[in-house]
Amino acid sequence: MNSPTYLDHAATTPLDPEVRAAVLPWLGELFGNPSSAHGHGRRARAAVDEARDRVAVAAGCASREVILTSGGTEADNLALRGVLERWGPERGRHLVVSAIEHEAVLATARGLAEAGRAALTVVDCDHQGRIDPAAVAGAVRPDTVLVSVMLANNEVGTVQDVAAIAAAVRARNPRSLVHADAVQALGRLPLGLDALGMDLLSLSAHKAYGPQGVGALVARHGVFPAAQITGGGQERERRSGTENVAGIVGFGAAAELAERRREADARELSQLAGWLTDLLTESIDGLDATGDPKDRLPGLCSFVVTGCRSELLLAVLDELGVSASAGSACSSGAPVPSHVLAAMGFGELAGSALRLSLGRSTTRALLEAAAERVRIAVARVRGG
Ligand code: PLP
Repeated sequence: MNSPTYLDHAATTPLDPEVRAAVLPWLGELFGNPSSAHGHGRRARAAVDEARDRVAVAAGCASREVILTSGGTEADNLALRGVLERWGPERGRHLVVSAIEHEAVLATARGLAEAGRAALTVVDCDHQGRIDPAAVAGAVRPDTVLVSVMLANNEVGTVQDVAAIAAAVRARNPRSLVHADAVQALGRLPLGLDALGMDLLSLSAHKAYGPQGVGALVARHGVFPAAQITGGGQERERRSGTENVAGIVGFGAAAELAERRREADARELSQLAGWLTDLLTESIDGLDATGDPKDRLPGLCSFVVTGCRSELLLAVLDELGVSASAGSACSSGAPVPSHVLAAMGFGELAGSALRLSLGRSTTRALLEAAAERVRIAVARVRGG
């Protein structure tokens, strides 16, 4: 059999060779603590600063608005916990999130509510995973401190009009802050604090051909979320800890590449994904596309497959040499029905999700072979 085909780029992407080349010296001859005043330290500081500038360009913000973190999960946590802690006493402790957020937002918000530290309203979506700006605004109260609605969903690919959501929220309560988890969007969709109307944006390097374990919370100047990791006061007192210099350099290189290649990648990936979606839905009965067919993440194909439990289908696909997923990386490890599909009203079928997410190295020939294996896998699972 040929080598396995990787169709799980929404879970993580391989390191781009350019990124790898930028990182390697920092795992070898180059080193230093960016907080040290000597030459080694200054060189490390310069590398971190340059990477921060590159992330800022890709995120459409000022460099000082970038808070480097250990990834998207920490960025989401810092957004929710940090805003609540900083602004809760003055503006109120009510949070609004959508029902289809990544667990980094949803579980954090629920945990805060269960601990009695926040009040929480969860806003539903429609059958295609779209969040209605009016419904979000309807949930906003005088004590709403933060609204968090993701830019692009990691399981079904639906892209929200977060600018419209932010405008509706502010019309209702100008003091409410607005956050978007943009982890899936880097290198795939245009970003920008102003363009998206956001106060806070979460990013992660490993979804955009950078290393795992590094990301950022972009926080508009003046928002200043309270640090959740305290210590030496790095990241302008917003996130302590000696910087992960190699990872941050990789994030910077990945962000620069993401920006440079975004339009071409998005065009190509959307085309391939559309083609694959049509091929599979037309050739396999009971396999239906999920998510918004128009406003969707380039390269993400998502389906429900009647009569196939995700975990069985994924196991057979793995045997046949296709690395795919049901949705989030956690649910591909443990067979938990998707909370996203449940919120979209899929009922039983929430346990029958299949996500094929394409990347820069995906070709039509690879997809043709993979589609054949999906057909075989579905038949095998249905046949028992
Ligand atoms: N938010 C979304 C939408 C994601 O897809 C992910 C990754 O799975 C995360 C947050 C978490 O990011 P990280 O893996 O960098 O912690």
